[in-house]
Parts: sequence; structure tokens; C-alpha cells
Amino acid sequence: MYLPKFTLESPKSIEEAVVLLGSGEGTKLLSGGTDLFPRMKYKLCSPEVLISLKGLPSATPQIDEDGKLIIDAKMSLTTITLSYEIREKAPLLALAAQKVATREIRNMGTLGGNICQETRCLYLNQTHTFQFTEPCLKRGGKECYFAPKGKKCWATFMSDIAPALFCLDARVIIADSNGEREIKIEDVYTNDSLKPLSLKPDQIITKIIVPETQGLSGSGFAKFTVRETIEFAVVNVGVFLEAEKDLKTCKQVRISVGAIFGGPQRALEAEDWLAGKSLSQENINTVSQKVARSLKIISHHGYSKSYLTECLKTQSRQALNDAVKGLTDQSNKEG
Ligand SMILES: Cc1cc2nc3c(=O)[nH]c(=O)nc-3n(C[C@H](O)[C@H](O)[C@H](O)COP(=O)(O)OP(=O)(O)OC[C@H]3O[C@@H](n4cnc5c(N)ncnc54)[C@H](O)[C@@H]3O)c2cc1C
Repeated sequence: MYLPKFTLESPKSIEEAVVLLGSGEGTKLLSGGTDLFPRMKYKLCSPEVLISLKGLPSATPQIDEDGKLIIDAKMSLTTITLSYEIREKAPLLALAAQKVATREIRNMGTLGGNICQETRCLYLNQTHTFQFTEPCLKRGGKECYFAPKGKKCWATFMSDIAPALFCLDARVIIADSNGEREIKIEDVYTNDSLKPLSLKPDQIITKIIVPETQGLSGSGFAKFTVRETIEFAVVNVGVFLEAEKDLKTCKQVRISVGAIFGGPQRALEAEDWLAGKSLSQENINTVSQKVARSLKIISHHGYSKSYLTECLKTQSRQALNDAVKGLTDQSNKEG
């Protein structure tokens, strides 16, 4: 498989990149290329001009005067796993980054690119002639061939990083021709498999901001894959848990799930149920069942809905147990 021909632009600043992106149809932003290049090879998209951020330096993570962690979206996933500031202030993000693909892909792949990756499907992510002759909805056709006679796209959003950022209540800075603005990470997603991102073509995510956490907290990230090698998630679950001083009671919890729908999902019903309750194994088992029962599940990559429900239950339990085991006092940590 070959890459189609394209022109590469290497802007000297984000402002220049925004101008180039907005300069016409057929331009596309390039970070590490680990999501975009395979899609171009499969002819899922054919941009004529790529605006590369590769030449722009990535700032090291900063902690501002309010204790917020500010991370450059150009940061590679490997650097995220190794960053002292991220491991201390947002260990869940480092845990999730560690689970992405392989070291080689994490060296190339960036935080911004991971958040903005496209939805995937067994039918879609193939060369056009390999499995089928008719284009599906996401290739501009009239039907979803994964779900026979499907009138809706059933591709799933498989980022490992996005659910972790949902749990951390992260915000993102977006640059465009009007300057910069800050939005919640949840607002980056539409939950529509056909067009999973709310961003406009000339918008660039420049920074990710993680608010400071106080008190006792623990993180867990569980990713289930069948082959346990280089593989996208069957399901992934992130947990950020805050406990009372007794270490046995849940103050509040954020649980977020990826890979089973057109966008990451918060398990709000399960979160509400656990808040204020004991962190006993019995309650963790109950809340894991609630996560599995309350979320929308698309049967994907040949996994049935009942199989995915069961996976979701076990992975939620794993992530919650890891979060309880890892409870540490954030107030004692230096900024
Ligand atoms: C074999 C293989 C295995 C993989 N396994 C996993 C996995 O297990 N988990 C996982 O999460 N991902 C996985 N990926 C997907 C991908 O490698 C990662 O998501 C990676 O982090 C993408 O980052 P990138 O910088 O390479 O993105 P790119 O390919 O450069 O860009 C991806 C998309 O995001 C847009 N974009 C890039 N940067 C920005 C920005 N700053 N603002 C706005 N839009 C932007 C691009 O225009 C493009 O549409 C895998 C990929 C491969 C090839």
C-alpha cells in the first residue's frame, strides 16, 4: 500500500498552521501521522496538503499558579509516560498512554492526534477492494455494511487517552482564526460515529489542562484486548476515585469508557451510586455491573453486545480495584 501524493507544509508557528489549514479544501493537520497515514493508505481520506506540526517544539508540562497541569498537545505519548509532572499530577493519563499500541507508535503518536483520531470499524479500515465493492456510509455511500441494511454508521472511537481525560475533568485549548478558547474535553466529541469530532477543519488543539486534585485519590485504567499485543481496545475503562480520610469510603468517582461507542462515555449513573458508599468489594462488584448495564454498546470488530457487556463489567472492576489500591494523599505531594 502506498501513500497518495500530497504536499507537505511545515509552518513555523501554530498561528501559521491555522492560516494554512483554513486556506482551502483538502488540507489536513498532521501530528505523528500514526492514525492519518494508515487512513490515507486505505484511501479513507485523501488530503492534497498536509500541515505538519512536527517541526514545532513541544513544551514540557507546566503547573500554573492554581496547580493546574498544562500539557502541550504535540507531546509524544512516550514522553507522557515518562514525564515526572504527569506521573505525579495525573497518573491516570500516564497509565492510559502506556497502554497505547507499541513503543514505536507511542514515540511518533501525540496527545492531540490521539484525542482527534477517527472512528474505526472492521469493514471501514480496509482497502476498498479487499472486503467489499460498495462504499459504506463513512466513505460517502448509502449504507452501513457492517450492520446489514444499516442506515447509521457503527464505527467506534477507540482512543485510550480520551476516557482518561474525561475522568480527569480535563479541558482543551483550541486555536483557530479567532484566537484561542478553552472547552471541556467532553465537548470535543459528538458521539456520532460518522463525524466523531466537533472541531472545524481549521481548529487545532494546542494544550490540555488537567485541574489540580486535593486529598486522597487513586487511579485505575483497564484495557482489554484479545491478543494482548499491538491492538486497539475491545473495551477500555478509566477510573479516578476520591476517598474520605478513612480510605474506605468513596467521596466521588469518575468512570469513563471507550471503544464501544462513537465517543467516550461517562458512567454517570454508576458514579452517583458509589459516591458516599463504602469501597467494599461487594460495592465495587455492584458498581461494575451498573457501568456495564447503563452504557450504550455498539457490537464492534466481531464482538457481540453480550460479550462486550461482560468485558465491560470485568474491566470496570479491575480499574476500580486498582484505583482503590492506589489511593494516595495528593495534598502531601509537592507541586
Ligand atoms: C498499529 C496501530 C496501533 C494503534 N493502537 C492504538 C491503541 O492501542 N490505542 C490508541 O488510542 N490509538 C492507537 N493507534 C492510533 C494512533 O497511533 C494514536 O491514536 C496516536 O496517538 C495518534 O497520534 P498522531 O500524532 O500520530 O495522530 P495523527 O495521525 O497525526 O493525527 C490523527 C488525526 O488527528 C488530527 N490531529 C492531529 N493532531 C491534532 C491537533 N493537535 N489538533 C486537532 N487535530 C489534530 C489529524 O488531522 C488526524 O485527523 C494505533 C495506530 C496504529 C497504526
